Amino acid sequence: MKKIDVGVLGATGMVGQQFVARLEHHPWFHVSWLAASERSEGKRYDEASAWRLATPMPDAVRALSVDACIPGRGPKVVFSALDAGVAGEVEEAFARAGHIVLSNARNHRMDPLIPLLVPEVNSDHLAVLAEQRRAKGWSGAIVTNPNCSTVVLVMALAPLQRFGLKTAVVTTMQAASGAGYPGVPSYDILGNLVPFIGGEEEKIETETLKILGSDAGRTPHALVISSHANRVPVIDGHTMTVSVQVEAKAALGDVREAFRTFAGRPQELKLPTAPIPAILLRDEPNRPQPRLDADLGGGMAVSVGRLRPCPVLSFRFVALGHNTVRGAAGASILNAELMQAELQCLS
Ligand code: NAP
Repeated sequence: MKKIDVGVLGATGMVGQQFVARLEHHPWFHVSWLAASERSEGKRYDEASAWRLATPMPDAVRALSVDACIPGRGPKVVFSALDAGVAGEVEEAFARAGHIVLSNARNHRMDPLIPLLVPEVNSDHLAVLAEQRRAKGWSGAIVTNPNCSTVVLVMALAPLQRFGLKTAVVTTMQAASGAGYPGVPSYDILGNLVPFIGGEEEKIETETLKILGSDAGRTPHALVISSHANRVPVIDGHTMTVSVQVEAKAALGDVREAFRTFAGRPQELKLPTAPIPAILLRDEPNRPQPRLDADLGGGMAVSVGRLRPCPVLSFRFVALGHNTVRGAAGASILNAELMQAELQCLS
C-alpha cells in the first residue's frame, strides 16, 4: 500500500517531536510536511527544533524546511501538537480548508460535534463526523484525543463499565514531561511534589464523562468523579490510584477477568500501533511503576496493578500510562489508524 502523506503542526515542540519520531517507521503514514510558528518558518527542521528525545532525530526530516501553519500548504492529513494558545483557530482553519486534523490540544475536546476519541473505548463516537461536516460547513474534520491523565483513567474504567460505574476517586502522580519543556522549574519539582496542576482536575472529570457517554458523548456518563492532580519528580509516565464504586455485586475475580480480557476495535482490527493486550494486569505487589512500565506496549499499553477490594467504595487499583505517547502523540496516531481502517477517510 502507498503510504499516506501527513504533516505535523507544532512539529518543533515536545509533542511534535514525538509525532516525528513515532511516524518514522509507520507502515501507513509518511511525514512530508512540518509546520510551526513564525520563529521557525523557513529554517531546516534540525535547526528549528531543539531535539529532546532519547532516540535520534530521523534523518528523513532533518533537512525539511519548516513551514508556517497555513491551511492548504500541507497534505490532507495533519497531526496537531500546537500550543493551546493558537490551536483553536489554526485547527479550525485547517478543517475548513479540507484537512483532517488529529489534535492533541485541549481547545476542541469538549465540542459536542468533535469526537474525543480513545479508540479502544468509544470508536463509535466517530459517527458524529458526518454531522460535524454539515453543521460546521467544513470540508475537512477535527478529531481530538484526551488529556494525558484522562486517557489512562478511561482505559482503566472502561472494562468496569459492565458492572455499572457509579463513583470514582482518582489521585494522579503526573510526570514532569506532561508540562512540556522547560516545564516546572527544577527547584520546584526536585525532591518535592506539587499538589496542583492548573485545569487538570476539571479536564479529568469532564473529558472522562464525554468519552464514556452515549450519543457520541453528547449525553455524559452519570459517573461522579473526584480527582486530585499532583506533579511528581518523574520524567515520563502518569501514575494514578483509583477507588471505584460499581452498581453490580462483582467478585474480585470478575473484575480481574474484565481487565485481563479487555480489548477494543484497535485490537480487533490489529491496527499497527495497537497494544496487545491493551491493559497489562500486574500481580506483583509493587507494580506498576513509571520507570519500569511506562514504555510497555510501545508506550501505548495501560498497566493496572494492586487490584483489591475497597472498604469505602467497591474496588481500588493503580493505573499507569505513558503521558507523551498514550497521552499525546501515540493517541493521535492510533486515532488516525482507526479512522483509516473504519472510514478510509485519510487517503
Ligand atoms: P511545546 O513544546 O511548547 O510546543 C508548542 C508548538 O507549538 C511548537 O512547535 C511551537 O512552534 C508551536 N507554536 C507556538 N506558537 C505558535 C504559533 N503562534 N503559530 C504556530 N505554531 C506555534 O508544547 P508541547 O508540550 O509539545 O504541547 C503541544 C500541545 O499538546 C499543547 O496543546 C499541549 O497542551 C498538548 N499536550 C501536551 C502533552 C505533554 O505531555 N507535553 C500531553 C498532551 C497534550 P515554535 O517552536 O516555532 O515556537
